[in-house]
Amino acid sequence: MVLDNVSVRLKGYCLQVEYEGTPYPLSLIPSGFFPGEQLCVCSYPKCKYFKMHSEERREVIISPHSARIEPWRVPIDYERVVVAGIFYQKWYRYSRGLKTEQLYNSCTDLNSLIGLIRRHRPPINLLTAIIYCNKVSSNEWIYDILGEALSIALSLVVDSDTLSRSMVTYTPRHKEDMKEDRFKRIQFNQAELLAISLARRLGLKVVDLVEKMEPSRRSPKDRAERYLRALNLYKLRPEAPNLIRGLNVIFVDDVRTTGATSTYISTLLRDAEAQRVYVAVAGRSVLDEDYNRFYEIERESCSVVS
Ligand SMILES: [Zn+2]
Repeated sequence: MVLDNVSVRLKGYCLQVEYEGTPYPLSLIPSGFFPGEQLCVCSYPKCKYFKMHSEERREVIISPHSARIEPWRVPIDYERVVVAGIFYQKWYRYSRGLKTEQLYNSCTDLNSLIGLIRRHRPPINLLTAIIYCNKVSSNEWIYDILGEALSIALSLVVDSDTLSRSMVTYTPRHKEDMKEDRFKRIQFNQAELLAISLARRLGLKVVDLVEKMEPSRRSPKDRAERYLRALNLYKLRPEAPNLIRGLNVIFVDDVRTTGATSTYISTLLRDAEAQRVYVAVAGRSVLDEDYNRFYEIERESCSVVS
C-alpha cells in the first residue's frame, strides 16, 4: 500500500478497508450474494440470461433500433467475470442533495472521501465512491485499494496455478480520449492504472495487447451499439498473438456495464490462442430494477450502513 495506515481485508464475502485502525465496509464481493446459488459467468447475481450465459455461453445483443427480428447472439469466450464489488451507478438518483462535483472534490484523499460518504444518507458502499474517483484522478491510493480488492476477489475465484500462468492487460484508450486528472492536470487511463496495481499484487506482467483505433465520439445508446462500436474500435496489437499463445489473460477494466467491449475483446484474445481469459473489474454496475434489492442484501450482510 502507498499509505501505511490503510489495508484491505476480506471478512466472509465482505471487503473492508481498514484506515487508521477503523474498518470501513468497502463492498460485498458478488460471489457472496445468495449463498447456495450459482453465480452467472457474467457475475450478475440472479442474471436473467443465466442459462444462455453459463451453459450456452452466448451473449444476447438485442437492439430496438435495428431491423433484426431475431436476437443477435455472440459467443462468450471468457471463462468468467471476476468483480471486486458492487458499483451503484445511479447513486445520485437515490442520494438527495449530493452533487457529483462534491464527490469529485473529495477524491484527493481517503480521509475526505470517507468523511463525505459518512455524512450522506442513504449511505453507499465505499467501493462506489472510489470507482467514481478513479474516473477523475490518477492518485495512487485509489488504485492501491481497487487493485488490492480485485486481487482478493480473483484469488477467491481463480486458482493460483492458473494465475501464475497469466498476463494482465486492460481496455485501451485512444490518445484523444484519455481521462484527465482534475487535480494534477495529466492524462491517464484508469483501466491501465488498475491493471498495473493488480499485476503488481499478483506478481504478473502488464502487457499492452489491445489497441483502440480511434476515439469514441459519443456514448452508445444500447448493447448492440456498444458491441458494434467495439467491432470497429478495438483490435489486437500485431505482436499480441506471439505473446499470449498458450497463456491466460486477465483483462482489466474499472466497471462492467453491458460487457460488450470485454466480450468482444475476449473473443479476439481467444482467437489468438490465449488459453483462458478472465475479465476482472473493480465494480459490477447493477441495473436500476435490482438496485434496492442488492443494496438491502449488502446492507444486511456487510453493514454498509455504519
Ligand atoms: Zn449472466
